[in-house]
Amino acid sequence: MKLIFLGAPGAGKGTIATAVSKEYGIPQVSTGDLFREAVKNGTELGQRVKGIMERGELVPDEVTVDLVRERLSRPDTAAGYILDGFPRTVPQAEALAGFQRLDAAINFKCGDEVVISRLSGRRVCRSCGAIYHVKNIPPRREGVCDRCGGELYTRDDDRDESIRNRLRVYREQTEPLISFYRRKSELREIDSAQSVEDSIRQLRPVLQALRKRS
Ligand SMILES: [Zn+2]
Repeated sequence: MKLIFLGAPGAGKGTIATAVSKEYGIPQVSTGDLFREAVKNGTELGQRVKGIMERGELVPDEVTVDLVRERLSRPDTAAGYILDGFPRTVPQAEALAGFQRLDAAINFKCGDEVVISRLSGRRVCRSCGAIYHVKNIPPRREGVCDRCGGELYTRDDDRDESIRNRLRVYREQTEPLISFYRRKSELREIDSAQSVEDSIRQLRPVLQALRKRS
């Protein structure tokens, strides 16, 4: 099953992708991981990515597409994969369509209020990077990491104003993808306003149907 997961920041697609990847035994491919891996391996592309990231610039589409193309040529993706965080733009989606045939693009939908409450409640450990949520995954002691005793803080990215800004960027850049996949009849939609478990419950019959078809 070759899948793309779409959704606004805070829609839960990363967490859902991790769970589905385990349940169905197909790898979760995220561009963030690909960038880090390329930099670590010091490949030619990796050195380019490193320079771009050090200058704080966005990795250009053609570099991202090359990394994804290489990743999807490895044998562990033969039975399928979940693309998480790619494509982000219509030109990236068009490039992907040039070398991969997808089964579906799954859009995880939830309202802005849900996203804002999820992201603004997020706390991260300064020492070990563990993630908490004031309501959904509270630490045993407020402001203190269960794992290492480190201090929990709110990332700048998760402040109200930044969240609204991220949602705006998402809408401008990524929402056109939803129309793109709808036109190709590859779009499926899941309501992700409830829990991760609830989203996965909705997703299973969709994936079963896709499996039968292929
Ligand atoms: Zn910690």
